[in-house]
Amino acid sequence: MIKAVPKPIEEIIDLVKNFHKVLIVGCDGCVTVCEAGGLKEVQILAASLRLYFTQAKQRLDIDEATLTRQCDREYLGQLKDRIDAYDAVVSLACGCGVQFLAERYQDKIVYPGVNTCFMGVDLERGVYAERCQACGKCILASTGGICPIARCSKRMLNGPCGGSEKGKCEVNPDIDCGWQLIFDRLKILGQLDRFEQPVEPKNWASSRDGGPRKIVREDLRL
Ligand code: SF4
Ligand code: SF4
Repeated sequence: MIKAVPKPIEEIIDLVKNFHKVLIVGCDGCVTVCEAGGLKEVQILAASLRLYFTQAKQRLDIDEATLTRQCDREYLGQLKDRIDAYDAVVSLACGCGVQFLAERYQDKIVYPGVNTCFMGVDLERGVYAERCQACGKCILASTGGICPIARCSKRMLNGPCGGSEKGKCEVNPDIDCGWQLIFDRLKILGQLDRFEQPVEPKNWASSRDGGPRKIVREDLRL
């Protein structure tokens, strides 16, 4: 899932300080799972802003809302009858949700309330780790199910680079060497012959290098 962290409250205060009426909109999707932008975080942010502006003797009305998903037109429509009442919106969705909300309500100021980080997994509550960079052509089948693009600091498709020490990455000793992980896993699977085979250069056009991407699934279109 997409992982995000809340923006510092000072940053959000700065964004909204010149308005009179602001709507904070959370998302019940990924940002709820990583506890950055769901209902609870909307309520906490709203309460913190109210406290700050009350103490600063500054008038700012803050309302709260959450949508099932902000990356879905159907749910964005739920705001259509109330969004005009606000000077600005702070979206706690990922960057996709923020942009889709702004696209739907063209004349509305929409600010991001979280920093969107990566696609990752929950290692434990409050500990999230990157696992995929959405390269568009998955090669996990030849790497023992461990992604060298997301987990090797140099995104090497032929590794290791030779700089790892005791299984840690030379770029950052707090990070496991992705290629050590791949080697260990391929060994368990009896697939170490992967290292004997030449690896085809990857066509990065399916990744970000090909520009903004779009999926058209004709089989799903109405
Ligand atoms: S190979 Fe590409 S699609 Fe597969 S996990 Fe890695 S970045 Fe994601
Ligand atoms: S030490 Fe391992 S993870 Fe780090 S850059 Fe080299 S191969 Fe990649």
